[in-house]
Amino acid sequence: MGANLTALLYLAASVCFILALKGLSSPESARQGNKLGIIGMGVAIITTLFSPIVQSYTLIILGILAGGGIGALVAQRIKMTAMPQLVAAFHSLVGMAAVLIAAAALYEPQSYGIATAEGIKFGSLIEMGLGVVIGAITFSGSVVAFAKLQGLVSGKPLRFSGQHMLNAGLGIGILVLLLVFSSSESTFVFWLMTFAAFALGFLLIVPIGGADMPVVVSMLNSYSGWAAAGIGFTLNNHLLIITGALVGSSGAILSYILCKAMNRSIINVILGGFGGGEDASAAGGGEEQGTVKSGSAEDAAFIMKNAKSVIIVPGYGMAVSQAQHAVREMSDMLQKEGVEVKFAIHPVAGRMPGHMNVLLAEANVPYDQVFELEDINRDFMSADVAYVIGANDVTNPAAKTDPSSPIYGMPVLDVGSAKTVLFVKRGMAAGYAGVQNSLFFQNNTMMLFGDAKKMTEEIVKALGH
Ligand code: NAP
Repeated sequence: MGANLTALLYLAASVCFILALKGLSSPESARQGNKLGIIGMGVAIITTLFSPIVQSYTLIILGILAGGGIGALVAQRIKMTAMPQLVAAFHSLVGMAAVLIAAAALYEPQSYGIATAEGIKFGSLIEMGLGVVIGAITFSGSVVAFAKLQGLVSGKPLRFSGQHMLNAGLGIGILVLLLVFSSSESTFVFWLMTFAAFALGFLLIVPIGGADMPVVVSMLNSYSGWAAAGIGFTLNNHLLIITGALVGSSGAILSYILCKAMNRSIINVILGGFGGGEDASAAGGGEEQGTVKSGSAEDAAFIMKNAKSVIIVPGYGMAVSQAQHAVREMSDMLQKEGVEVKFAIHPVAGRMPGHMNVLLAEANVPYDQVFELEDINRDFMSADVAYVIGANDVTNPAAKTDPSSPIYGMPVLDVGSAKTVLFVKRGMAAGYAGVQNSLFFQNNTMMLFGDAKKMTEEIVKALGH
C-alpha cells in the first residue's frame, strides 16, 4: 500500500475517532459513537497490516489471537461494577507497551528508522525519553489504582511527611535524567530514568484514597494517551500520535470535569495526594449516631403513592443488584398514579463516570426525566420523597459539614431536604469512602433494609394492590 493511501486511510480513521468521542458525549448518541470508534479501529488495523514496514504476519496474527482472545473473554466476564479496575489494568498495559517499545527502539534504532551515523537522532531521543517516562508512570500508577480498586490493598490514603517534597525531587531528577539521556544516549541513564518514573507513578497514587479514585482513573487514562502519543513519534506513526493525543486530551478533559464535580484542584490530582481528611475512620466511618427508623415495602409504596413528586437517586447498590428495570417499572406505576418522577444523578455515583446514565438508559428511562446534580439539587426542597437506592457517599452531608471527612468539599445531592427520605440498602454499612451517613438517623428518613432489586420489586407489587 502506498504512503499516500496509508496517510489518507489513517486520516479517515482519525476522523472516525473524533466523531466517536463526540457521539460518546451524550447517552443518546453513545451507541453511534461506539460504532464509529469500531469502524475507525478496523480501518486503522487493516491499513497497518498492509503497510510496507510489516515484515512478518506470524507474530502479528499470534498477537491478535492472544490479545483479542483475552480481551473478548474479559469483556464477557467483567461485571459493570468492576469496570474501573479493568480500565486501570488496561492503562497499565498501555504504559508498559510504551516502555517496551522505547527500550526496543533504543537497542535497535535502525529498525525504527531513527539511527544516523552518529547514533540516534536527538529529537528521537527526547520523544523516546518522554514516552518511556510517561509510560512508566502510567504503568506503576495504574497497578496501584488497580490494587486499590480491586481491594487487594487498602483503599485508604497512604501519607507521610515530606511526600510532596519527595515527589517534586523525583520529578526534577527525572527531567535532569531525560536531558542527560537525550545528549548521551546512555542505556544506563535510560533505565535509571525509567525506574525513577516507575517509583514516581507509585508515589503519586498511594496517597489518593476512597472517593477520589474516579479522578485518578481518568487521569491515568489521560497519561496512557500521552504515553501512546510519545511512542507514536518514536514509531513515526501519525495515527498513533493522533489517537494518543485524543485519548490524552479527552482523559484530561474528563479529569477536569470530575475535579469540578468533586470540588478538587486539578493541579493537586496531577501532583498526587489530594482530598480532604486523613482517613475514613478519623471521620467517624461506621459509627452509629442515633436511632434508625426502618420500614417495609408496603410503607414505602403507601408514602410514594400519596406523594406529588418523587426524586429517585440511584447509586452503586442499584448497579450491584441490577435493580434498574424494577426502578423503571416503579417509576412508570407512580407516574400512572399522577406522581411526578425525576431521576437525580451525581457525577461520581456508582463506580465509573456515566455509570448510572448507562444503567437507566438500559432500562429505557426517558432522558428527559434524568437530571444532573446542579440541575436538580434545588428540587429536593419541594420534593415529597427522595428514593435513594444503593447510593450513599453522593448524598452524605459530611461532605459539607465535616472538614476532616475524606469527602469534604465534594458537592452532594441534598436528599435530606425532601419531606421523606427512603434509603434502600442492605444494612448500615458505610459507602465507598468509608464514612457514616448522618442522614440515616434523621427524623424524616425511613430505611428500607434489603437488596435494592428485591425491595423495589416488592414496592412494585405493593403499588399494584
Ligand atoms: P457508595 O457510597 O459506594 O454506596 C453504595 C451503597 O450501596 C452502600 O452503602 C451499600 O450499603 C449499598 N449496597 C451495596 N450493594 C447493595 C445491594 N445489592 N442492594 C442495596 N444496596 C446495596 O455509592 P455511591 O453513593 O454511588 O457513591 C459512589 C462512590 O464510589 C463515591 O465515593 C465515588 O467517589 C466512588 N467511586 C466512583 C467512581 C465513578 O467513576 N463513579 C469510581 C470509583 C469510585 P449496604 O452494604 O448497607 O447495602
